[in-house]
Amino acid sequence: MDVLYIVVPCYNEEEVLPLTIPEFKKTIVDLVTKGKISPLSRILFVNDGSKDKTWEILEKEHQEDEKVLALKLARNAGHQNALLAGLSVAKEKADIMVTIDADLQDDITKVEDMVDEYHNGCQIVYGVRDNRKSDSFFKRFTAQGFYKFMNRMGVETIYNHADYRLMSKIAVEELSKYTEVNVFLRGMVPLLGYKTSCVYYSRSKREAGESKYPLKKMLSFAFDGITSFSIKPINMIVGLGVFVLFVCILAAVYAFISYFTGNTDSGWTSLILSIWFIGGIQLLSIGVIGQYIGKIYKEVKRRPKYNIETVLDDNNKNN
Ligand code: UDP
Ligand code: MG
Repeated sequence: MDVLYIVVPCYNEEEVLPLTIPEFKKTIVDLVTKGKISPLSRILFVNDGSKDKTWEILEKEHQEDEKVLALKLARNAGHQNALLAGLSVAKEKADIMVTIDADLQDDITKVEDMVDEYHNGCQIVYGVRDNRKSDSFFKRFTAQGFYKFMNRMGVETIYNHADYRLMSKIAVEELSKYTEVNVFLRGMVPLLGYKTSCVYYSRSKREAGESKYPLKKMLSFAFDGITSFSIKPINMIVGLGVFVLFVCILAAVYAFISYFTGNTDSGWTSLILSIWFIGGIQLLSIGVIGQYIGKIYKEVKRRPKYNIETVLDDNNKNN
């Protein structure tokens, strides 16, 4: 029977974990009882450098229940890297892995449907929100704008899918061949291929604690996704260049007409305007190209994406 690992990134989640851990455990127990997964299935919490009591809570849970495993990253590596760290540890033991947020805003009862889809032959199953009623207007507006903007900028993502997904061992092993340092899983996973499907659910409110994705982080996440995935911004600069050239031709025609009608002085205004305009465009272009150079720089350095400090697994339990 297939071993399922639920991988849960946790950053400063001391308020929400006591509420959600029982639900995680119940999900495993239910699926084992129904004979859909092996009794060796586990929940693997990844503590992403939390500054609060998150790790203490996880250690205690691990002592009390063998279903709870925990991994501690040596520093805050970020949501995406925490997920990758968890998956890299889970894939050694698991046949199927589900990633889900610690706050359980995503409907964990859908794990069963995901497992069913896996048994139908899917290697990847995406959890997709069918509405955003529970989000505030602001969150809904910015989050939906995020997906639309990403797609327009040439990053193909699954609409309204975050990082709640099931992946088979094969899919995770293939994913680990993507050695890039700038990780954007929502763009990378669809690149893998395989038979995939979607499971729909409605997202609930965060029960406790605060969102770790305020607008500022979301914007930098979007910017990261775009610059690691797409050269569309560069193409847009080319388009802008063509446009400026066109404006220049019009300006030249205007200057000539002014010259032949003896109004040369008044041409000075348009000339100075174009100089400023072109200067601005050039600065902008250099800035964007600089962003790409920055990415190349980071890739070339090949820094480790995360450093594991401790692994609490079945082997080092002393009772
Ligand atoms: N998270 C993480 N590292 C970070 C930020 C967030 O592991 O640096 C985790 C967090 O604990 C949660 C998940 O990523 O399990 C999603 O964060 P959150 O629920 O705050 O985001 P939102 O649902 O508001 O988009
Ligand atoms: Mg959340």
